[in-house]
Amino acid sequence: MHNFVKDESGYTKWIKEHPADKMGYVVNSPRSLNQKNTYLHRSTCMTISPDKKGYKNGGYTERQYIKFCAETVEEVVREIQRATASKDETFPPKCRICAP
Ligand SMILES: [Zn+2]
Repeated sequence: MHNFVKDESGYTKWIKEHPADKMGYVVNSPRSLNQKNTYLHRSTCMTISPDKKGYKNGGYTERQYIKFCAETVEEVVREIQRATASKDETFPPKCRICAP
């Protein structure tokens, strides 16, 4: 389990270490932990990948958004539910692009 806050290089490294054949899972959340803008992704999803989309200047973990990353869905969901004190079993919603 890794939480990346203001750590672009750490996040980029984690994503590189979790390609399709070593899939991990990422919850992308606003720094405020506002549940409305929080989604579960596969580690290969282009919307959260520094390699594929290439936001510069800290766009992944240093500005509005932070990342919770784990090897399993269960682990990352448990962590975001704990962080947000959510008891909603449908939270976080799944990204429609990568469909984790
Ligand atoms: Zn996605």
